[in-house]
Order: sequence, then structure tokens, then C-alpha cells
Amino acid sequence: MTAVPVLLYHGIGEAPDLWTVSNRRFTEDVQAVLDSGRTIITVADYVNRLRRRSPLDDLAVISFDDGEESQLPAAVELAEAGLPCTVYVTSSYLGRPGMLTVEGLRELGQVPGIEVGSHSMDHLHLDVLRREQLRRQVRDSKARLEDLLGRPVDGIAYPHGAHDRRVLAEATDAGYTSGAGVKNALSHEDDVPMAVARATITDRTEASEVRALLRGEGRLGERRPRLRTQGYRVVRRARHALGV
Ligand SMILES: [Zn+2]
Repeated sequence: MTAVPVLLYHGIGEAPDLWTVSNRRFTEDVQAVLDSGRTIITVADYVNRLRRRSPLDDLAVISFDDGEESQLPAAVELAEAGLPCTVYVTSSYLGRPGMLTVEGLRELGQVPGIEVGSHSMDHLHLDVLRREQLRRQVRDSKARLEDLLGRPVDGIAYPHGAHDRRVLAEATDAGYTSGAGVKNALSHEDDVPMAVARATITDRTEASEVRALLRGEGRLGERRPRLRTQGYRVVRRARHALGV
């Protein structure tokens, strides 16, 4: 089985939260990616290869979720090192403090090699939504981003990684051709094109752990949601129904 690391970042910078990786650490990771000798491609290109069953040797993917303003300079830093990436933007977050502005989104769209994907409209757990709500979350975000960028947005990353068969079907129906989950595992040739496994990098992830992922060391993503995830979903669905 060929393991493919699909790295997932959130913010990059000096904020004191778990989800923000420091500039120094990020630059170390960029160096680790370069040292790995792997070819970096976008999620869209990776999923194309998955679907065609093309060889996946020595590939890796770098992705970002949420559409934070710090992701624009990070994408530029990657591009300067010759590395493309995929950034998933939550469309209703545009213009909020700390998030990309519309102008920033357009600049992001101009970064060489970039793929901009949707991270839904409002960052809800999609797997607990009623059909109409789910449909709006996947379709309206796609339409808004396409309108702002003036080009197709073909990829989606599910907020919180929350997805089930129904969510994948709605995403496919909306015209997305690739999807990204979380799973905190390595992707591989039997991975699901509409729910690719990614490994979250936080401020607590050691540089050595990133290097290990880039050597292809770690758990492989499973094709089905794990039991624990399914259990949480029942709880979330009940909470959602109660409005808490
Ligand atoms: Zn998110």
C-alpha cells in the first residue's frame, strides 16, 4: 500500500492557540517537505490520480482549512518554494477578523499552483443537517466562491471532518469532484476520492512527527467512519435537534 501524506494546517503565525502553527515551525515543515523529495500536488490533482489509479509514489499534499488571513502569506511562501497547496475557505467567514477578506481571497486565487476549495458556508457539522440545510451549505458556498474567484471550485473539505454517505452524495450532486476529510491518517490508493484522509498539524505537532509522516510512517485512513465518530454523530444529531 502506497501511503500519501495529506497535511492539514489551520492558521500560521504567532497566535497562542493549538491550531496556529508558528512561522518558524511552518518554515521548518516547508524544509521537511522539500527534503522529503516528494512531489507536492493539490488535492484536485491527487484525487484525479486516485480515480485513474495512477501511481502515487512520492507524492504529498499540503492543505489549509477555514480561510484565515495568515493562509495567504503561507500559500505565497509555499509557492516561492515551488510547492502548490489547497486552501478550503468557509464562505460566510470572509471579512471576519482574522479571516481572509474578499480582496485576500482574490489574491489567494492568483497564487501560482493554488487550488481554492470550499469549506462550506457556515462551518457546521454537515452530517447532522436536514437535507435542505445540507444542500445550501455545500451549494451556496461553491457558488459564492466561484462568483468571487471567477473560476470553478471543485473541491470541498467537510468542517470538523464530519461526513457520512449522505454528505458525500450531496457534495457529488452539487458538482464537487474531490472531498477532504480529516481522519488524522495517511491517505493511500484505496482512499475515498470524496473524503481523502488528512493529518492535522497543530502547534503541538513535533517537527519530527511531520518528517515521519513525510516518510509515509503512520496509520492509514480507513474507508469507513470509525465507530467512535459514528457514536459522536448520534450525540451531535440529538443536540442539533434540541437546538443546544
Ligand atoms: Zn474548519
